Amino acid sequence: MAPAAVLSCEETRQTFAKTRARHHLHAYVDVWLDKLEAHMSDDPPSLEEVTQAVFAMRQELTGRITEGLVEQRHAQVLQQRTWACPHCQRLLAARPAPPRTVHTMVGEVSLARPYFYCMPCQQGFSPVDEALQLSARRTQWDMQKAGARLAAEVPFETAQELFAELTGLSLSDHTVHEVAGELSHELGVLEVSPTAAEMAHRVAEIAAGKTWRPVLVLAIDGAFVPTRPEQAKGPVAGRRHTRAQRASWQGEWQEAKGFRFYLVERERIVHLLSWYQGHTDEDVGAALRRVQEAGLIPEAQVRMCVLGDGAKWIWNQVSARFPTAVQILDDYHCREHVHKVASLQFGEDTGQEQEWVEAMMARLFWGYVHWAIEGLEALQPRDSQAAEAIRKLMGFLRNSERRLHYRTARKGGYPIGSGGIEAANKCISHVRLKRSGAWWYVEKANQMLALRCAKYNGTFERVFEAYKRRTLHRQRSDPP
Ligand SMILES: [Zn+2]
Repeated sequence: MAPAAVLSCEETRQTFAKTRARHHLHAYVDVWLDKLEAHMSDDPPSLEEVTQAVFAMRQELTGRITEGLVEQRHAQVLQQRTWACPHCQRLLAARPAPPRTVHTMVGEVSLARPYFYCMPCQQGFSPVDEALQLSARRTQWDMQKAGARLAAEVPFETAQELFAELTGLSLSDHTVHEVAGELSHELGVLEVSPTAAEMAHRVAEIAAGKTWRPVLVLAIDGAFVPTRPEQAKGPVAGRRHTRAQRASWQGEWQEAKGFRFYLVERERIVHLLSWYQGHTDEDVGAALRRVQEAGLIPEAQVRMCVLGDGAKWIWNQVSARFPTAVQILDDYHCREHVHKVASLQFGEDTGQEQEWVEAMMARLFWGYVHWAIEGLEALQPRDSQAAEAIRKLMGFLRNSERRLHYRTARKGGYPIGSGGIEAANKCISHVRLKRSGAWWYVEKANQMLALRCAKYNGTFERVFEAYKRRTLHRQRSDPP
């Protein structure tokens, strides 16, 4: 037979399959409409009554449409009677098997598909599952993604409730936990980071039309996370514990260390990249190194500055990684230190306390650190506590002198406040991890922080796609 004739034969077959599938669907729509009408009262209904009835039954219809489309588009593999074992090439005959029902965002989808089993290899195959890239779970990718997305925002139980309410579908608590865990398993800073091209694009957008390079801020800080020890038994991570369960172990606030890269343009902040984990100073350094070595920070296109509190580890890391960056001690932390001395020294006289703080901050703002230190030396400490605080503040100011140049920093367009990192602490960590009664295993807290970072960095979709590819690959090499 000539190739043209073969093609036309295949076309005819496809047209026929399509016509038949359409015909079945049209017939089903009639059945569905009858069922729907039976659900509504005889009185003329309000619009809400109509939408409620349609909402309650819509997934029957959309599920069925999906089945029809699958039957039409995968006709060949659905009708396969024989299959060569991918391991030994033996020709296998299709075996009778019950249809597989999977759960999707458009409802239940039932697939009557051929099943093959190779006795010598002791392995079963459903080629349709692979052609459709099905998850081995009953709950398919679209539901998994929606569930994980919700769980990254609200506690697992609330996620499950919201999901059911908004979609009319149920997602088990177990599935939400498992998917969130697998999705965030072994996520590192690079997996949740935008690409170098995306970062460069954001920088170029801010730089467009200007003669100066934009300021890129690296802010480093810690956010406290309520953790519990590994030996704590009870509900899953992030869940409430009863008083009795709580009594058997002691929760602990641990610092999750994080950083945020962002651009500043006057008062506007353009987010680039954040990463938080409950880990050591060295881990933060390692994460910064990975970001830098991956070429994510277009250092030549920006004026870089690093903003942090007095913590030594921050400056050690930064001096090693970004030696040319301008270092700034954030003025909020600086003010806190000054305040401490003022309240110990002038405790009762709030007027004098306030006046003294402002005078100190003004000196620091103008860069007169030595003058501020002289002021401290001239103070007659009220008691030993005040004396100790004064001594500490002098040491702190001496060590921080090169990071206290607020006026020059301001003139250069550099920020001096920690608002940028405080906002990230709040959005990434606090809103999800700090909830009354919730204590996290460190591993689970880190997984959630990684997911939160992905959302904040705009890479959640990519992280989910990677999880999907990874899982499909594993299913293929190790079928369920
Ligand atoms: Zn075989």
